[in-house]
Amino acid sequence: MSDDDPLYLEPRLAPPTAALLESAPLLHTLVDALGSPLNIVLPDGIAENVRRFRSVFDRHHLGGRIFFAHKANRSSSLVRRLTTTDAALDVASLRELQHALGSGFTGDRIMATGPKDPEFLWLTARSGAVLNVDGPEELRQAADLVRTHELPPLRVLLRLSGFETTGAARLSRRSRFGTPVKSLHRLLDVLDRHRRVLEPIGVGYHLDTTGLDEKAAALDGCLRAMEELRIRGFQPRAIDVGGGFGIDYLAHAAQWERYTSELTGAVMGSRPPLTWGGHGYGLRAENGTLRGALSLYPAHRPVAGAAYLDALLSHPSPTLGRPLGVLLLESLYDLYAEPGRALVDQCGLTLGRVLEVRPADTGPHLVRLAMNAGDVGLEAHGVFLDPLVLPRDTTSPTGPVAVHLMGNLCLEADLITRRAVHLPRLPRPGDLLAFVNTAGYCMDFGATHAQQQPVARKVAVHRQDGQWRWCLDEEYWPLGRTEGHQA
Ligand SMILES: *Cc1c(COP(=O)(O)O)cnc(C)c1O
Repeated sequence: MSDDDPLYLEPRLAPPTAALLESAPLLHTLVDALGSPLNIVLPDGIAENVRRFRSVFDRHHLGGRIFFAHKANRSSSLVRRLTTTDAALDVASLRELQHALGSGFTGDRIMATGPKDPEFLWLTARSGAVLNVDGPEELRQAADLVRTHELPPLRVLLRLSGFETTGAARLSRRSRFGTPVKSLHRLLDVLDRHRRVLEPIGVGYHLDTTGLDEKAAALDGCLRAMEELRIRGFQPRAIDVGGGFGIDYLAHAAQWERYTSELTGAVMGSRPPLTWGGHGYGLRAENGTLRGALSLYPAHRPVAGAAYLDALLSHPSPTLGRPLGVLLLESLYDLYAEPGRALVDQCGLTLGRVLEVRPADTGPHLVRLAMNAGDVGLEAHGVFLDPLVLPRDTTSPTGPVAVHLMGNLCLEADLITRRAVHLPRLPRPGDLLAFVNTAGYCMDFGATHAQQQPVARKVAVHRQDGQWRWCLDEEYWPLGRTEGHQA
């Protein structure tokens, strides 16, 4: 790689994604019919990812459950396809719970997390789902609800936070969610008073961090919390390690290293800007000194997804020294995990049509798309990833070019990305840009009806008899559509 090479950040493409991108005429036809932007989901991909996670459970001889964190994507086809696997679902709102039940999940395969209103609590208890408890007040409320409405005993899992290492130093960052582990006794007091209506099945955490040490300290803390439950006469059996296993978005580590170091150079003024208005993504220069820290998703993440779970289970316990997976096994505990993003790795892409290509006086071309920043949340989530150009007319000339990607809102801030994107050819009006691997949060989490622009429709595609088949996401049911994948 020479200094003059374009600053590409090429996406990592799993074979099904690569095969779909080779079917550009199909993708053009779909956007012609259903409009831009358009989201494509690959339901068979989620089953593949469940298998990867399950094989890590198997390698560590652990039983337990994989809960897909529904909030990563609103798709029906992904959730319905998931019912045919051995995975379960983590829901974070009343509507997500209704969606789970309506997609074929029974209560015993659902866990309710996040902030809860009374209706969400009631349907959780009514359907026999597990309640992932945020704090003592929620636990009291749940007990009252079960009693008042004469519901069956409710299984609860205690979400903990504020874990410490053996020393005094606090490792975990502050969280709005969960009960500080030092206040566990308050939860146990509530449980004690409501033994007939609440059944504690275990404890857990969800930490929004990539740090393995921090998660190992939390898992260690959970092992100790389980002991406290036993001492109080409960019989807990599961530890929930939450989500946050992540995705490796990029094909080449070297491109990521080079891009981030060039971005630092641009902030310091040692090379031309790489971003709109000199935006530094958290970095700034003060009197010739670099300040701040890059606030980006680590798009190149060599240990991600199921491999990250494997690393966590192989990690030594900070207090006992032996691998955490072995300690879980010896205690005969079930392992629960709640992957969101990682379970939809390579499960979807977002297409946007090019409307206008405008040369700028200096610097990158301006490329305007029939979509906006809310339709592809790469910028919102700090994910650096180049789109692929799907030309309508394949005879258009090639050659590297830097472009700024503009959205369809009448708003200065509506850039699809604030960084300039390097492409192997200048797009033309009518071409499509394909943003791959958007199924985790980057597809529909932040999509709005601003300016009454259309929200992307969603299409489910799958391979059958060597051909791509498609249907609207909401029309998908996993009947005879699961080539090469058993439940
Ligand atoms: C969001 C969330 C998850 C999933 O997180 P990912 O980073 O997408 O894996 C899991 N559990 C809880 C409680 C969450 O809020």
